[in-house]
Amino acid sequence: MNDRPSSDAFQHAELDWDENGLPQSRQYGDVYFSRASGLAETEHVFLAQNEVAQRFAALQGNQHLVIGETGFGTGLNFLCAWQLFERTADKQARLHFVSVEKHPLSRDDMQRALALWPELQQQATQLLQQYVALNPGYQRFVFAGGRVVLTLLVGDVLDCLPSLDARIDAWFLDGFAPAKNPQMWQPALFAELARLSAPGATLGTFTSAGFVRRGLIEAGFDMQRVPGYGHKREILRGRLQAVANPVSDKPWFARPNRGITERRAVVIGAGLAGCATAASLAARGWQVSVLERHAEAAQEGSGNPQGVLYLKLSAHGTALSRLVVSGFSYTRRLLANLQAGQDWQACGVLQLIYDDKERQRQAELAAAFPASLVHPLTREAAEALAGVALPEGGLFYPDAGWAHPPALCRWLLQQPGIELLQHHEALELQRNGQSWQVLAGEKVLADAPVVVLAGAADAARFSQSAWLPLKRIRGQISCLPANAESGQLRTVLCAKGYVAPPRDGTHTLGASFNFQQTDDAPSIAEHQANLEMLEQISSDLYQRLQADPQQTGALQGRVAFRCTSPDYLPLIGPLAEPQAFADTYAALAKNARQSQHAACPWLEGLYVNTAHGSRGMISAPLSGELLAAWLNDEPLPLPRDVAEACHPNRFLLRKLIRGS
Ligand code: SAM
Repeated sequence: MNDRPSSDAFQHAELDWDENGLPQSRQYGDVYFSRASGLAETEHVFLAQNEVAQRFAALQGNQHLVIGETGFGTGLNFLCAWQLFERTADKQARLHFVSVEKHPLSRDDMQRALALWPELQQQATQLLQQYVALNPGYQRFVFAGGRVVLTLLVGDVLDCLPSLDARIDAWFLDGFAPAKNPQMWQPALFAELARLSAPGATLGTFTSAGFVRRGLIEAGFDMQRVPGYGHKREILRGRLQAVANPVSDKPWFARPNRGITERRAVVIGAGLAGCATAASLAARGWQVSVLERHAEAAQEGSGNPQGVLYLKLSAHGTALSRLVVSGFSYTRRLLANLQAGQDWQACGVLQLIYDDKERQRQAELAAAFPASLVHPLTREAAEALAGVALPEGGLFYPDAGWAHPPALCRWLLQQPGIELLQHHEALELQRNGQSWQVLAGEKVLADAPVVVLAGAADAARFSQSAWLPLKRIRGQISCLPANAESGQLRTVLCAKGYVAPPRDGTHTLGASFNFQQTDDAPSIAEHQANLEMLEQISSDLYQRLQADPQQTGALQGRVAFRCTSPDYLPLIGPLAEPQAFADTYAALAKNARQSQHAACPWLEGLYVNTAHGSRGMISAPLSGELLAAWLNDEPLPLPRDVAEACHPNRFLLRKLIRGS
């Protein structure tokens, strides 16, 4: 992916609709599918040449097939593959579809295009429901209870594919005619297709252009001309011959635990990270026990009444920023399962300018991201939108808002295959043959081949994970009763803190940051600090709420502890044994560039998902998908370098190299 996101790079498809109601690209001057019959073309060029029906039918147990596509367009190929999968594959099998799209259709255009195919209505309706908050980068969609997963890479194929970590079984090489789109049909593309191919991967494409055929042969595919469809005399099909089997020079980030066959896991901690992990595993047919020390899920960091979907972006395309954009979009799709108004609200988030540095930062962000994700507002426009007077304008995130994290946790835990074991506090882990035992004193609480530590900073309480560099930061919210005047607030307002429109007659205001204090009783001083922050956000709203700083003792509030890491990125992935890691890669301490091939000394089956800081609403749901992808050997839902930036082994590596 490009390191620097650029709003120039993101442009929706510009369509013309012909006299038959078929879409044509204005940018490329080409059709999206055959004028004769899009469906039959997809069937012949992509499904038949890749023998997809036979391969779906041959999937056994929990096996999956991964299809890769260049040019998602209207999603027609995806929907046809999905429908065929429903018709031919076993109920336990799974379909992963990875597609790249530089110019996604707007939602309206998508709706209009998909109305052309009544026979695909069942799948199209589900795609349209989730076709929201579509932003540059990796976009994950989960359909049919997890049987069908779409990873849509929004961007140029030549920028996106190098960051993809997947093994593609069948390629749909679409993407407008080479003559109309020569920038795409490059040797670099053919090389990426080969790099990403599983052994024996196949390929179908509608073009028969000589240079495409030669380029694919050069990249390692055996190519064949076959009769085309409609006015096309010939098309191409191919099969990868030689598998380039590159040896990883970063074995500490290699895919672990390929040997785990029994799909049973214990997740420790029923906050957002734990619930999301459980849901993503359950969607893949795992039996998951979630251990929770409290009487219910979401009683600690994920227990605030309103969590804000606040996007901490960088104009420089940092790993954190890309995680935030992908995570945000995925969370938005999940939230549609909750009750709007009660459990979440897409009321937008307005990030106010509070000093010159922030003004500068906001200008950079506005230039770096598409307006549909974030755009600047003058003070007047911001006030009109917010419904209260404001000291300044700021940046508006129209698709963002607030959510009630416990409701999302509960929804995630409802997925079939999950059991919540309340009042179960895990104190110790012990390896027992092929599985892990989770103990509280002498008592075995649960055992399974896979354990995921998702209990915020307590993920480091076990001897196997005690080295994890986790920090706790106290945060206190204040809850202010809404009145008719304050209830006119229509969007979340953020500056150094935030205030949200009311939920159940109460505004949430927060949250303090306190590294020193560790007690969990709300303090008057922090209530006062929250009120001061509110006054800075909007003295108008402050007046309307009539909060008396002298009476803060009467205020309702809540304290929770965020868990964070030294680089502020979460830890999502498999754990290694730290001493064996240091011994295995000791040479790196002398020469960090020395290539290493020894296998990483994994603690087989032990994983962690924690340190989501105060942005768990954004990063935790997608973290479940990332963890499940590591565990099931699936396409990663994030660019490879972002997944590595979240990998727990990064800290063991840094310690070895920097000695710190
Ligand atoms: N497979 C699509 C379907 O089922 O509707 C039709 C694809 S359409 C013929 C080609 C698509 O490729 C367009 O949506 C276009 O925006 C996309 N595309 C063209 N060049 C691209 C590039 N360099 N990177 C990513 N997508 C590209």
